[in-house]
Amino acid sequence: MSSNYMEIKTITYDNNNRYFFYDIQSGFFVESRAILNKIIGLYPEHSPEEILDLLKEEYPEELIKKSFEYIKNMYKSNGMLSQKNKVIQKNSPPKLKNLWLNIVHDCNMRCIYCFANGGDYKDERMNMSVERAKKCIDYWYKNLGDFDKVNVYFFGGEPFLNRKVIEYSMEYIDNLIKSTGRKVCYNITTNGTIFDEDFVKKLKEHDVELLFSVDGTPDIHDSQRIFASGRGTYNVISENLKKFQEYFPRLNANIVVTKKSAPYFQKSVEHLFKMGFKNVTFFLSITSDDGLAFTEEDLDIIFSQIKHLNTLTLKNIIHHKSGILVNALAICKKIHLNLPYSGCALENNSVSVFTPDGTMFKCYELLSEKEFSIGHIDTADKWENMCKNKNFMKSLDERVCNKCWAQKLCGGGCAYDSFVYNKDVNIPYSISCKLVKFLISEGIRMYSELYMSIPESLDRLFKNTEI
Ligand code: SF4
Ligand code: SF4
Repeated sequence: MSSNYMEIKTITYDNNNRYFFYDIQSGFFVESRAILNKIIGLYPEHSPEEILDLLKEEYPEELIKKSFEYIKNMYKSNGMLSQKNKVIQKNSPPKLKNLWLNIVHDCNMRCIYCFANGGDYKDERMNMSVERAKKCIDYWYKNLGDFDKVNVYFFGGEPFLNRKVIEYSMEYIDNLIKSTGRKVCYNITTNGTIFDEDFVKKLKEHDVELLFSVDGTPDIHDSQRIFASGRGTYNVISENLKKFQEYFPRLNANIVVTKKSAPYFQKSVEHLFKMGFKNVTFFLSITSDDGLAFTEEDLDIIFSQIKHLNTLTLKNIIHHKSGILVNALAICKKIHLNLPYSGCALENNSVSVFTPDGTMFKCYELLSEKEFSIGHIDTADKWENMCKNKNFMKSLDERVCNKCWAQKLCGGGCAYDSFVYNKDVNIPYSISCKLVKFLISEGIRMYSELYMSIPESLDRLFKNTEI
């Protein structure tokens, strides 16, 4: 056994006498054996000679040598090591896929962590006009890449404050797309405080994906998500929710976790499941307010709670019950489909974001930072040229992510988080890195468990689904 003949980067998972490993470089998930996982777990920190020494009490020497050879051959024969991560090709032109319309920069709420500064993005409060929306849609449609399925997002502030433009846009886009055979998926993120029955019926007709922002139990929610008057919003939302659920029985929620709410995270997510939300996604509050921003210690507080919720999620999936915490399950989807490294919106140039006055961005979270604008709809060039002229991300080789084992499943982190904490979109925020690495290890655990319990259902779970 030569001490230096291959480079393996894997994460192993063992449970109930079943053994798995995920090969980070190729993205292959493999059912393994005890001895193989032991060798893989010891390599490359230990040389093959040391591994032989360490395992010889447990296994016959011949078996250890054979297993090492087996790993070596397996890697050679299926090309796991030779197949490098699929990364964005530097020279391939950017392809526009999704449209993001910030149709209103105003909000009836003032959440304590709001990245949009209470809806105005540190600028004038305003609505997008129908004429402006049409112009943005036309631009997007003209520059659209060859995708079968595209997403359109209506965002704010609170999008329900500009219902007229949402209705107009859906009709207009449906007419444009109708003859092309493409599928459009409409998405709205709402604070849930406004219910308008006629409008909700229209959303239903267009099969809109509604995402509610709710932070958990009444006291946690009301301590973070308040009306402009300062009053808590929980009661209004929970009343509205029942009316929404008559039209949308499968609603999803998004929860923002702050330093203050971290100890109650599990309770909050379970409360959302009880309210009837099917899928819950969480985000850490990204803020320069020290009273709300996460520290390493706060992460440790939520890790055990996430683990518990992931186990509950597994049970619910296996027993066809509702209640899914999405974040680590989304990693399972990447593993199952072996999705390539994608990068965030600022890096992959796949979404055109428009403010109400027609200013263009690549990332909806960076709208308060004018330096990240790529132009204006009135003077917009082809998407490809606009992206080339305003490329804010360094190449992967020049970023710390290039050396990180989590690169493929993480996708290089969130540029907004990096900007808020490091004032540089190319330097990842260490707390997000720690969280994503934890979620990856959880994703591998969950995928292994699903693989053992319901192997026949994995395609149904992860192919063509929004998880
Ligand atoms: S509802 Fe959304 S836009 Fe409005 S204050 Fe809260 S986080 Fe900000
Ligand atoms: S975990 Fe951090 S360093 Fe690693 S790829 Fe993600 S953002 Fe980059």
